[in-house]
Amino acid sequence: MNKKLKNFTYSQNSLNTYKVCPTKFKYKYIDNISLNIGEVENRDYYESLKLGRDFHLVCERYFRKIPTGLSSGNEKFERWIKKIKKVVPIKDENIYLPEYEVRLRLGENNIQAKYDLVVIGKNTISIWDWKTEAKKIEHRNLENRMQTIVYMFLAKEVIPKLLDVEVDYKNIKMNYYQPEFYVDPITINYSEEKHNINKNKILSLMDIVQRTVFEEEDYKDICENKIDLIKNKDNCKFCEFNKLCNGQEVDYKNLEDEVYGT
Ligand code: SF4
Repeated sequence: MNKKLKNFTYSQNSLNTYKVCPTKFKYKYIDNISLNIGEVENRDYYESLKLGRDFHLVCERYFRKIPTGLSSGNEKFERWIKKIKKVVPIKDENIYLPEYEVRLRLGENNIQAKYDLVVIGKNTISIWDWKTEAKKIEHRNLENRMQTIVYMFLAKEVIPKLLDVEVDYKNIKMNYYQPEFYVDPITINYSEEKHNINKNKILSLMDIVQRTVFEEEDYKDICENKIDLIKNKDNCKFCEFNKLCNGQEVDYKNLEDEVYGT
């Protein structure tokens, strides 16, 4: 195992990055090379990252019941927050946990999730994720998304224990909401069967990451079960490391937005 992965905390982003391209995982999480928002050369892309972060902050403040800091004249945010207020009305009987972070020890590894919003009702957990990208999200892409898998799995494993509530699988829901395009959220339901499948998917992917030869010297004494580091060339045009890897310009229009957690 790579030394840098010894105390590594996995997340939906890091697991997804490995799935997209193991070399990309190495750049981001072993070599710690990151694309800083301030260094983004493409104006439109910079604006869309900033918009996502700003809107998440407005939502966090709204659900914390503190002033949102939303300036008058920001029509887009006003329109979006109006929709969110309708879709997730604040009720006295519920607990609202914006930007809520949980961690779990799973097997030999740690894994974490940071939710845009968790709403705890009477024996229910609703997870909310705000989507601000300009491209419309589709339901069929969401069920098997790494974000859905990790968020729902940790919601069942961690949140009931932390808050001392009993929550059945069927009472956990994950909602993706894209206020620009939808009136209603896209909701993913849960079950014990999905939970077991998700657990196996997460454990299996973490095991593959641990066995990958990111740096030869870490593996020189280990001969069995090693996995060679590969470059997934299919994804280069959607990758911020295209210049570093292939000497080609980054196509910001097609860059994966989920890497930045919006
Ligand atoms: S440019 Fe291609 S090969 Fe390189 S890290 Fe990105 S996806 Fe992987």
